[in-house]
Amino acid sequence: MRLVLLGPPGAGKGTLAVSLKEKLNIAHISTGDILRDEIKNETPLGQEAKKYIENGELVPDTFVTRLIENRLSKGNNGLGFMLDGFPRTVHQAEDLDKILGKIKKPLDYALYLESTLPVIIERLSGRRVCRNCGRVFHVVNHPVNEKSPCCVLPDIYQRADDNEETIRKRMDVYMQSTKPIIDYYAQKGILFKLDSDKDTPELEDALLKRFNEDGKLH
Ligand code: AMP
Repeated sequence: MRLVLLGPPGAGKGTLAVSLKEKLNIAHISTGDILRDEIKNETPLGQEAKKYIENGELVPDTFVTRLIENRLSKGNNGLGFMLDGFPRTVHQAEDLDKILGKIKKPLDYALYLESTLPVIIERLSGRRVCRNCGRVFHVVNHPVNEKSPCCVLPDIYQRADDNEETIRKRMDVYMQSTKPIIDYYAQKGILFKLDSDKDTPELEDALLKRFNEDGKLH
């Protein structure tokens, strides 16, 4: 199964991906996570990307497309992959089609998680992330479970770009650069819309039902 996950920041792409990857045995490839690793490791790419990310802007297409091409060429993707946070521009979507065309592995679905600005601000300003496993928490709606052996408090952090000013900037960028991708995939007939207000098990059920009906599950 080859998927892209679309939707504004805070729509719940990461949460859905963490749970879906186990069900489908596919790789979860997040350009945001890859870029944050590059920043942590102080690589030249990380140093360049940092200023864009902290300003809520997009990292230039060529950088991220190269990251994705390298990651996909490594294999090691189980029964497929799920791209989270890529593509974010129509140009990236076209490049992705070229990359996948070369290896004759086109996308099966573009999953689109719809949400609204007030919901996003509420979710992102309270969002916390586990440094170890990538699980996403919320200070009010989904606090850290103290019994977890992995997600313990010193490893739970708030992303530098999850403050209200940067969230608004990211939403503007999303509306301008990323939203047009929805039409791009709708025209290809592979868009599947999901309501991000639903919880993860409900979303998963809807997805698995659809994949099954389309004969995509092995
Ligand atoms: P995310 O974790 O997906 O919210 O990404 C965090 C930040 O990384 C974004 O606000 C961008 O600055 C950058 N980023 C992630 N993916 C991309 C992409 N496909 N194109 C450009 N910038 C990206």
